[in-house]
Amino acid sequence: MTQDALLETAKAALLPNYAPPDLVLTRGEGSEVEDRAGRRYLDLAGGIAVTSVGHCHPKLSAAIAAQAARLMHVSNLFYNDRAIALAGELTERTAFERVYFCNSGAEANETLIKLARRAQFERGQTDRVEIIATEKSFHGRTLGALSITGQSKYHVGMGPLLPGVRFVPYGDLDAMKAAIGPKTAGVILEPVQAEGGIIVPPAGYLAGVREACDAEGALLLFDEVQTGYGRLGTFLGAERFGVVADACSLAKGIAGGFPLAAVLIRESLKGGLPPGSHASTFGGNALACAAGLAVLEVFDEEALLASATERGQELAEMLDALVAQHDVATERRGLGLLQGVALGEGVDPIAVYGNLRDRGVLATLAGGNVVRFVPALNVSREQLEKGVAALSAALAAVSGND
Ligand SMILES: *Cc1c(COP(=O)(O)O)cnc(C)c1O
Repeated sequence: MTQDALLETAKAALLPNYAPPDLVLTRGEGSEVEDRAGRRYLDLAGGIAVTSVGHCHPKLSAAIAAQAARLMHVSNLFYNDRAIALAGELTERTAFERVYFCNSGAEANETLIKLARRAQFERGQTDRVEIIATEKSFHGRTLGALSITGQSKYHVGMGPLLPGVRFVPYGDLDAMKAAIGPKTAGVILEPVQAEGGIIVPPAGYLAGVREACDAEGALLLFDEVQTGYGRLGTFLGAERFGVVADACSLAKGIAGGFPLAAVLIRESLKGGLPPGSHASTFGGNALACAAGLAVLEVFDEEALLASATERGQELAEMLDALVAQHDVATERRGLGLLQGVALGEGVDPIAVYGNLRDRGVLATLAGGNVVRFVPALNVSREQLEKGVAALSAALAAVSGND
């Protein structure tokens, strides 16, 4: 089928809840993808922070193929060796002792909500049902995850939402302390708000929330769906801030593009979801976990945490220079390989994003006005240079200064 024929079917058959541009991607390798018409793009969107080891990494492709020929799925009525091995790896690499597997970020965050409520219930704290979340947060699209997402545009027409959720401004420790009380089951936060516009919290904020939760007996829950898995240069994003939550969610980069998610849980909460209280049919299936194990092998063999740190520093320098050159670029934001540039009033972010794509570079938007780069952790310095040069040209073209 030609690209045009594919697009025609897409427009007729797919639910129009997305609005992608007129190109159909059919191949990928490393940080490059190709459309059906044969045009190649530098992919600095990374499938929205998902393709952590690049497209079709030979190790990952081979591991998936081999596992698909051995065992894919047995349900959680039985152990499978791949899930056990991956759980062991995750507990070794983090401060968490327990792992629950599921399939998406939203589902992992649903698990955090249920864990917070049920763990408090198991402790006899039956009044502690409230979840405190933050304004501009993003936690996913299922109704529970949506209910703790602090962006009203996503709530339009979806009510009534889950009761028992309170929002406070992100980064405001006093507001958080004032909100935490005898009804609080847990507080959920992104270590860096990603979709909300790449907001890094002020120094001491996460540690302060940790203290406030401990003082009151509330659980601290981190949504590491985007910040986790090396994105900030550390295995978990919260490590950069020296804070350990009671539980955290992982998804996006965990299996390099294969659907998988996990919740990491401290030993103190081992009894938080007793048998029968929570489950997922596909969660932790052998095929997904084999992909997850292959991703970790690549992390080690290619020292991807160190790469993400180095490339992140280089990207910060490049973006700082870009901001200095362009009046319409008001600020560089982010850490590691979750970085972007905020655009001022005078320029349409969607036009910049489109112009960048016309120049053969894929990026994403966050918070409405931030051009965000979330590439594979093994992206090269040259690829980042090419992407930033294209953004510079796109800014000049769209603001009429080229
Ligand atoms: C993407 C994202 C989610 C939702 O993940 P899905 O896999 O789309 O359900 C949740 N939280 C954060 C921080 C995310 O970036």
